[in-house]
Amino acid sequence: MRAYDTIAAISTAVGESGVSIIKVSGDRSKEIVSKIFRIKNKTDFMEAAPWTIQYGHIIRPDGEIVDEVLVSFFQGPKSFTAEDVVEINCHGGRVATESVLNEVFHAGARPAEPGEFTKRAFLNGRIDLSQAEAVIDIIQAKTDLSMKAALEQSGGKLSAEIKEIRDSILNLLAFIEVTVDFPEEDLEFTTGQEVSEKLSGLLQKVGSLIRTSEEGKIIRDGLSIAIIGKPNVGKSSLMNALLKENRAIVTDIPGTTRDIIEEYLNIDGIPIKITDTAGIRETDDVVERIGVDRSKSKIDEADLIVFVLDSSRPLDREDIDIIEYIKDRKIVTLINKVDLEEKLKLDGYDLGETIQVSALNGYGLNELKDKIKQLFFHGQVEAKDYMVTNRRHKEALMRANEKMYAAKTAIDQGISLDLAAIDLNASWNYFGEITGDTLSEDLVDKIFSDFCIGK
Ligand code: GDP
Repeated sequence: MRAYDTIAAISTAVGESGVSIIKVSGDRSKEIVSKIFRIKNKTDFMEAAPWTIQYGHIIRPDGEIVDEVLVSFFQGPKSFTAEDVVEINCHGGRVATESVLNEVFHAGARPAEPGEFTKRAFLNGRIDLSQAEAVIDIIQAKTDLSMKAALEQSGGKLSAEIKEIRDSILNLLAFIEVTVDFPEEDLEFTTGQEVSEKLSGLLQKVGSLIRTSEEGKIIRDGLSIAIIGKPNVGKSSLMNALLKENRAIVTDIPGTTRDIIEEYLNIDGIPIKITDTAGIRETDDVVERIGVDRSKSKIDEADLIVFVLDSSRPLDREDIDIIEYIKDRKIVTLINKVDLEEKLKLDGYDLGETIQVSALNGYGLNELKDKIKQLFFHGQVEAKDYMVTNRRHKEALMRANEKMYAAKTAIDQGISLDLAAIDLNASWNYFGEITGDTLSEDLVDKIFSDFCIGK
């Protein structure tokens, strides 16, 4: 294991709470904490057995008590970072927590950088990069399904799959090398055939992994849906009706602007960001213009557009302008207010799939939810044992796939095995980027810098 200095940070959210946890990691963590921690039964913390909890007080050098605490000691390598880790449970709230942390710093630890604990777990070989990235996905999970997918990844399911493919490629490379070392033409031909066959199997495997990424991305990051329709068709009523049963628990709702309202839904585990747009009416009013521009950009970014029409009013210019604007997009059209007398005629406009709803009494909303599941998940929403949820992983897989394909094509066309080996080697490297085996230090640093402090 590499030797690092000892770091400390608050691992819990800062604010009023019952307890806070301060995490200390590194060779000197036990020694540092023993300088400021007085155990109730007067024993020395240096003598504390691993994986036990001690009760006592954090004290200043002048003997004054800072806080009453519980302190646990995890001896490396059986700890989160694979180093010696000490966790101090102190009282929650900013003052208690920061006072304790300050004493830890005075005793010799330095402040941890964002993601540094998880980074050490990676650098010390306890987890690979895709598992480390899953830690942040767990923390940021938007629904139970996002959480499940992140847990599977942190448990190493995806890594195991990648490792198996990588090992197979390494075997093929070794096989090619032996052949090239004994150049008899027959041998080169039969080896080529065998490698090509094995590559077909591997390409299929990688192809199905890549295919999980579309659903995987939605499970991790969510779908974004924009509701659009002229004023008074029932957009906000619809949003409220959907939210009543399906509101998702989210910690950070980005700013709701005056003209755009965003909320999070949880539909069978799919995290959905739903935006009620202000409309796209042509206008000379400067303020209104800003709202329209914002609405348009929300509509342009959305994965799906839910277009709302009012069944109790005839189609008019404003509806038609919207239809024109969204005609090439993935849309679901809702004919709202079907509880009222019907006056709407679609006049031959192609609006894709239409669903009759009433935001007032909830009629048709289940059909809308089923439609969303069908459009993005073929009807069945589930987290597979392993799926690619991270864009970085998907991109590495695509590049690896391309190189494997190039190698197979070269072999099938009778081009020398030497050249195919170059492509295979490149694909082996791309697979390694997912697990972090072949990623440059700079990129690794960048990935961890997106974490928050204390993780
Ligand atoms: P928005 O401007 O598109 O957001 O429309 P609102 O949600 O504010 O709705 C406009 C009006 O239509 C309100 O008075 C709602 O109560 C009414 N409304 C919305 N949905 C329905 C519906 O399904 N049936 C009926 N009868 N009225 C509705």
